[in-house]
Amino acid sequence: MIPHLTAKSRPGIGGSWVHDLEFEQEDTACLFPGMPLREEPLGLPEVSEIEIVRHFMELSAHSHGVDNGPYPLGSCTMKYNPKRNDAMANLDGFRGVHPLQPVDTMQGILELLYNLQGFIAELMGADAVTLQPSAGAQGELTGLLIIRKYFEKKGEDRRVILIADSAHGTNPSSAVMAGFDCEIIPTNDAGIMDLDVVREKMNEQVAGIMLTNPSTLGLFEENIATIAEIVHAKGGLLYYDGANLNALMGIARPGDMGFDVMHLNTHKTLSTPHGGGGPGAGPCAVKAFLEEHLPVPRIARRDDGTYVFESDRPHTIGRLKSFYGHVAVMIRCYCYILFNGPEGLKQVSEDAVLNANYFQQKLRDIFPPIYPKPCMHECLLSGKNLPTTPYNFAKRLIDYGVHPPTLFGAGCVYFPKDLDHAMLIEPTETETKASLDQVINVFRKVYHESFSDAEYVNTAPHSGRTRKIPEGSQALDD
Ligand SMILES: *Cc1c(COP(=O)(O)O)cnc(C)c1O
Repeated sequence: MIPHLTAKSRPGIGGSWVHDLEFEQEDTACLFPGMPLREEPLGLPEVSEIEIVRHFMELSAHSHGVDNGPYPLGSCTMKYNPKRNDAMANLDGFRGVHPLQPVDTMQGILELLYNLQGFIAELMGADAVTLQPSAGAQGELTGLLIIRKYFEKKGEDRRVILIADSAHGTNPSSAVMAGFDCEIIPTNDAGIMDLDVVREKMNEQVAGIMLTNPSTLGLFEENIATIAEIVHAKGGLLYYDGANLNALMGIARPGDMGFDVMHLNTHKTLSTPHGGGGPGAGPCAVKAFLEEHLPVPRIARRDDGTYVFESDRPHTIGRLKSFYGHVAVMIRCYCYILFNGPEGLKQVSEDAVLNANYFQQKLRDIFPPIYPKPCMHECLLSGKNLPTTPYNFAKRLIDYGVHPPTLFGAGCVYFPKDLDHAMLIEPTETETKASLDQVINVFRKVYHESFSDAEYVNTAPHSGRTRKIPEGSQALDD
């Protein structure tokens, strides 16, 4: 264990900095007139500058990050984002803007956000976009609240949302948060939504269907046109979970497939920080007839080319997020889209799909794909040939500097489908062939080790400071 910084504290030790000579301690009181001020010192650790530097360097070396090794479930967990986008978002003109500044002093940033809405609408085949939602899940919630508002306005009482059993867990959660009941549509042996069940369940009480494409099984949902027909014929709406649109950009658009409401995850599709790496964003896009329900404030462009915020919109679902969403994330998306251009974004998707198929093909002799056909941006491989559990296999990967992939079945309660011993792998578009080959070789090596040195594999990892921690479900099973 690395000791806490306070354990290294010794009175009187400190670092040095260039102080503002004009500013003295007593001035603090002038800065906050009438405010209660702390009388005791803060009690911060007293350590030298070099001790602080070493402390944080040591901490950083104990984490696996995308900057020091690959992540098999790339964009879902962590994938490489070009550093140039960070540099752009850190420009003084962006970083120094305050959301409460007068609108005429932040026209540049509003123009950027307005244009980005247009880019995302174009990518998705939609008519209007909100950048407010701060994650994929919040994008879903936004879309579902819009669907609810739409039916409220029409005076139709529709309480049910249909969701595939392979959907991301956020789908049913968002539907319930938006006040709907969920009905589950099973996926068939080919991993595709069962059309007969969609037909059977679709009626005038159903508000719509949530469909994920590419699906969480890494497949292209094949019957979209028929599903759209069935749902629209009964007056329902279609929601597209486009979290992983990085498999489709520039190739196919949900709006063209018949979807009315949709979101994408900027942190999976448009190269922005993910989870612990920073706040995400899940822009939500709609067809024109739903635009009036989008959250406020909306950014509008006046005839003279200036931008304003509009909040006075009677049919809006309201506000989802403080201010205008995660603006620093949007700057990164904007740069990513401009740097790549239309052809570049298409190439991103082609590379994401090619890399996943390369991975699937190269390992199929030992880890056969669960669905034996080409995959989209991720592949689902079976670990049933392993003499040990995929869980033990995955932990041994850590010793070779590879982050464990996400597991289905034993040891994993995250995915609802019963896919025992499956591993979901998404190499992402940013990995080169050489780095893919390196991960593939590690998979092969550990596969063979699990026959030749089972005990060593089963007790891995051996390299980290932390030994194997029992997963919740395993602890329950044991
Ligand atoms: C990641 C993901 C989500 C949730 O997105 P968050 O940004 O984590 O809230 C929803 N649906 C699918 C298909 C996803 O892959």
